[in-house]
Amino acid sequence: MEPTADSRTRTLSAHARLNDLYGEQAVYGRADPMHELVGTILSHRTTHANEVTAYRTMRERYPTWEAVRDAPLADLIDAIKTANYPEVKAPYIQNLLTQLIGETGAANIDFLADLSTEDAMSWLTNLPGIGLKTATLVLLFNFKKPVLPVDTHVHRVTQRLGLIGPKVSAEKAHTILLSYLPQDATVLFNFHKHFYWHGQRVCTWYYPKCNECVLRDQCDFYRLGGKMVLSSTPVRSKSVK
Ligand code: SF4
Repeated sequence: MEPTADSRTRTLSAHARLNDLYGEQAVYGRADPMHELVGTILSHRTTHANEVTAYRTMRERYPTWEAVRDAPLADLIDAIKTANYPEVKAPYIQNLLTQLIGETGAANIDFLADLSTEDAMSWLTNLPGIGLKTATLVLLFNFKKPVLPVDTHVHRVTQRLGLIGPKVSAEKAHTILLSYLPQDATVLFNFHKHFYWHGQRVCTWYYPKCNECVLRDQCDFYRLGGKMVLSSTPVRSKSVK
């Protein structure tokens, strides 16, 4: 199923309903920019609690970013072992810090505030281990740039609603959804937050609570009785409630 011609209207309508449900927030950062940058590497394929423990242990052992960069690899792997795949993440973190400090002279990315969105995105995604999701989270949350992080929840809910095609990747979803929405950091922040929360609380991975959902009357997944095969979601074993 391809996105329909009225996808923009439907996207804005769903956004307005979730704004009403969850309330509009001012843009806020979850952590300082360097914390966000390194934290998102740690967060891949692990729980938030494990990410937090790994980050705290790493910073307790290595209070400066230069110390993290120069730590023996095996020791850094041990420090972040609560995050899954520490043997993959530790070299990414050290390579990132090596490139960042080598290019700018400091472990600090505050200069991104003065770059255009395009330049800031390009600079960040050229760092080792930094993909579109991490870059958009840092640029939107910390620098209020008009970009849209598409995490697994935003991806799944927008696919189920039929706002993007069922096989569209998260990377392509970023471009498609951004083209439907105002280029305004507050709008994009709230779109991200609300779809993220909706995916966590209502439109959950295996058993979406469709009977409690304010988007039910505009949802392709519900209309089709859950018979949609999506690239973001494994096939479910039960029908929608
Ligand atoms: Fe998700 Fe169901 Fe709501 Fe559709 S109706 S968005 S599938 S919870």
